[in-house]
Amino acid sequence: MGWGVAMQIISHIPEMQHWSEAKRLEGKKIAFVPTMGFLHEGHLSLVREGKRRGDVVVVSIFVNPIQFNQQADFATYPRNLEQDCHLLEEVGTDALFFPEAPEMYPEGFQTAVEVDNVSRPLCGAFRPGHFRGVATVVAKLFNIVKPHVALFGEKDFQQCVVIKRMVKDLSFDLEILPMPTVREPDGLAMSSRNARLSPAGRQTSLCLSRALSQAQGLVTHGERCAATILQAVHETMTRESGMRVEYASLCHPETLEEVSEVSGPSLLALAAWVGDVRLIDNCVIE
Ligand code: AMP
Repeated sequence: MGWGVAMQIISHIPEMQHWSEAKRLEGKKIAFVPTMGFLHEGHLSLVREGKRRGDVVVVSIFVNPIQFNQQADFATYPRNLEQDCHLLEEVGTDALFFPEAPEMYPEGFQTAVEVDNVSRPLCGAFRPGHFRGVATVVAKLFNIVKPHVALFGEKDFQQCVVIKRMVKDLSFDLEILPMPTVREPDGLAMSSRNARLSPAGRQTSLCLSRALSQAQGLVTHGERCAATILQAVHETMTRESGMRVEYASLCHPETLEEVSEVSGPSLLALAAWVGDVRLIDNCVIE
């Protein structure tokens, strides 16, 4: 598929800022998709929607060291720049921002963005400093890419909540667009980390999406008690050997505070380990 103009690959901050400023002066609307690379259809769905929402679309690939609370997770995070570039060109990305870590965090770097309450529960409780790292890098990327609209996947639901809160609280002049989770045909939410699952682990991982469907089914049939729903979810997740539940929580989709009853739209958020691979999934139960 040819789009006429080759994708710009930019790795320096002033160059990216200059590129975006020039597009803004031309009156172009900039859509932005931040990623950590090893791209799959989930990422590409965001880029395609970005192309519909903006005149130009910028994607960043940066495996952000400050959001990893485990060095091993950072070290083993999958990377494949050549394939990513190919996929991004195919969907018509205008510019790829691909900085090195010292460009983003030069010596003396000491500023952080902390989004308080919504960063605390769920993943925040198990990955200390994670959302501080995410909010800091995303704030920085917004100042570098200067987008009018930024797209985020609901697969990382808490991340969407944290970023929306940050944008509101710090008056960033842009729109955040959450996008639905893209799944494999058998239900597994797409994730760069899925590549690290063994064939047996890949089977086990299906318990996550099964547990979500089961919970939705219970609520559809009239169950309202969070404890009852969560117990069923736990059973489904652990029935197959090899899955270790990190958390299963029913909470308010904006405040992320736990609910004891499903009386309105509620977020069911799950995190589990399959071997040494950490997976998350969620859905909003109506
Ligand atoms: P990551 O590279 O994992 O940091 O993800 C970059 C962006 O893609 C984030 O906004 C994610 O929420 C989003 N994303 C990752 N996986 C999916 C998926 N399966 N469906 C939709 N969006 C996704």
